[in-house]
Amino acid sequence: MSKPKQQQLPLHKVIMVGSGGVGKSALTLQFMYDEFVEDYEPTKADSYRKKVPLDGEDVQIDILDTAGQEDYAAIRDNYFRSGEGFLCVFSITEQESFATTSEFREQILRVKSDKTEEQIPFLLVGNKADLTDKRQVSQEEAQERATSWGVPYVETSAKTRENVDKAFYDLMRKIRDQKALENQKLNGKNKKSKNTDGRRKRKCCIL
Ligand code: GDP
Ligand code: MG
Repeated sequence: MSKPKQQQLPLHKVIMVGSGGVGKSALTLQFMYDEFVEDYEPTKADSYRKKVPLDGEDVQIDILDTAGQEDYAAIRDNYFRSGEGFLCVFSITEQESFATTSEFREQILRVKSDKTEEQIPFLLVGNKADLTDKRQVSQEEAQERATSWGVPYVETSAKTRENVDKAFYDLMRKIRDQKALENQKLNGKNKKSKNTDGRRKRKCCIL
């Protein structure tokens, strides 16, 4: 009985992206199992699924923790295409990992070119916030980049669990709200198509 029920729960698909060593796996495992794992296999992409309460409603979160395979563009693009929301992670202790977030963002936007930027749930995540004495990326510059992209910025620590739930839950809310918007649009369209002249208005340009 419980199995078919579980399958009916809304499913939100999250992809972890970011350079190697920034803590994608540590964040995922901390969220999934409340554990800080120091030495998770760095080359393994893995997916996880968990039932969680989201604002009073049970949903399922599916997390794809990507790894080295992103170097193969075709595999990476498939991963990104399958994602409904993205946690783009860098380490506040590594400037280079912060620079790379721009590349990940571009790749995601390219793969999801059927959507506008605002339609893609995305959070910029500065991890390893516990390592304050090793900080190379200031909160201000990270916030500035997030603002220029129109996305939220959150600082996390997979070690202390600071803001780990916040990052995943804020992203799930964005995914949920985006799906609701898309459904509304679909319903609107269906209603319109009942009219005789219900086709979507297309922009017309006379040359
Ligand atoms: P990934 O390659 O992005 O999946 O990175 P990992 O999750 O494998 O983490 C790389 C290393 O950084 C591991 O040794 C982790 O224990 C460590 N690490 C990850 N997150 C944190 C964090 O928030 N704080 C600290 N101090 N270390 C972390
Ligand atoms: Mg990993």
